[in-house]
Amino acid sequence: MGKDKVKSPHVLLFPLPLQGPVNCMLKLAELLALNGLQCTFLNTDYIQNCLLKHTHVQSRFDNYPEFRFEAIPDGLPEDHPRTGDKFLDVANGIQEVMKPIFVEMLTSGKLSSKSSSPVSFVIADGFYSFAVDLAKEIGIPLMYFETISPCALWTFFCLPRLIELGEVPFKEEDYDRKVSGVPGTKNFLRGRDLPSFFRISDLNHPIIQFILKEIQEIPRSQGLLLNTSENIDGPIISQISTLCPNIYNIGPLHSLHKSILLSAQKASSHTSSSNSLWEDDKSCMTWLDAQPQKSVIYVSIGSIAVMTVDQLMELWHGIVNSGKRFLWALRPGSIAGKDSKYAIPAELSDATKERGCIVSWVFQEEVLAHPAIGLFLTHSGWNSTLESLVEGVPMICWPYIVDQQVISRFVQEVWKVGIDMKDNCDRILIEKTVREIMEDRKDEFEKSSSVMAKLAGQSVADQGGSSHHNFNRLLKDIRAMSV
Ligand code: UDP
Repeated sequence: MGKDKVKSPHVLLFPLPLQGPVNCMLKLAELLALNGLQCTFLNTDYIQNCLLKHTHVQSRFDNYPEFRFEAIPDGLPEDHPRTGDKFLDVANGIQEVMKPIFVEMLTSGKLSSKSSSPVSFVIADGFYSFAVDLAKEIGIPLMYFETISPCALWTFFCLPRLIELGEVPFKEEDYDRKVSGVPGTKNFLRGRDLPSFFRISDLNHPIIQFILKEIQEIPRSQGLLLNTSENIDGPIISQISTLCPNIYNIGPLHSLHKSILLSAQKASSHTSSSNSLWEDDKSCMTWLDAQPQKSVIYVSIGSIAVMTVDQLMELWHGIVNSGKRFLWALRPGSIAGKDSKYAIPAELSDATKERGCIVSWVFQEEVLAHPAIGLFLTHSGWNSTLESLVEGVPMICWPYIVDQQVISRFVQEVWKVGIDMKDNCDRILIEKTVREIMEDRKDEFEKSSSVMAKLAGQSVADQGGSSHHNFNRLLKDIRAMSV
């Protein structure tokens, strides 16, 4: 056997440049590095700057001598918001700027020359549909990591059928009509529960064309990584595996990451495993410590969603009128409009002083794990949903874009761990829904949330957990394919 053959595989990880996918991919990268694989983590300059200005991230990865960050431009100005409806500019930047640089990087071997061995394996976000042909061309195995929810991914796979059946595109009057083109969900999925992009009436729209391309390319890769487990998403995984036979369900990944790091004694209560792009506010943890058990509503709309001042006011009034305590992570830039200044009515500021805490950004995993949290008012991002599910925190769902419409429906109808407000955001509904979950149906939601938390916990257990087993299988397969 030649000398090179005994070198560990060199994996290139290429996430979508957004908080959720970067967080997931970085957790996966850390687990690979912990197991002795060389890893190059390919970021955009923007994400890299946000991430590495937090010294704890850099110092955590300094522990792995074979781990390297690498960054390329995304083609957008530094002060571009990269959120809300401007989020699609990121997709354009990928095609026009990042794709050619990535192609050049891989084909020229530039990445390899900086490392002790050539890139021998690629794990790319499912969004990079161009990567599979490139990898084939240069003879490197590639797997896709779909960091969106499997339930929404399945609706993506069903898009050609939905179009054929005339169920997509759909008009507003069809929002409440059940769709028949998504096998396994016939009795509960309505038009309004399909991904937000399916509301676009023009089938030639770049994003629709993009999805149609993505679902053709994913099955051509060597494998598909999903952030879920069999006991969370069994029926959906069975559907997806009819098209992609080699699936690795390694979720909930943040929980698997924690479990593996703890057994390797690489994590402690003093080391933050946060991969936040914004600064985590720590003061809210002290505030939470002073609140009674399960008394606090945690509110966040994630890293991309934005709301209007009207919606902000409806949410705020609804929460305050419920009389509950609340912790709100109100991200800078999450209020739409150039001049998003607003006057705060006295009843809101008084109630907030009395029983609320508003900060910019938190380490959400830690917040959701705090015993004072009793409810999560969320935009139903997949990572947020999994983080809530793992901690047994019931949810009020107010979905914004992409897969969130599907997830919120699954939260209510499949996992039964919350209530889906879908397209409605008014103070009366919010107050009523809070009371429903925290008072009227409290026992029911506590029970169903703890059942799901238990199932999620079983998936990542190091003895017999299916995601743990799948991660080991992934390691073995990367090593075998990289030779
Ligand atoms: N998050 C966080 N602090 C916050 C808000 C969000 O750490 O104040 C994290 C959250 O834990 C999750 C990610 O940001 O891991 C958001 O991803 P998700 O898929 O839920 O939604 P997206 O931001 O992609 O819409």
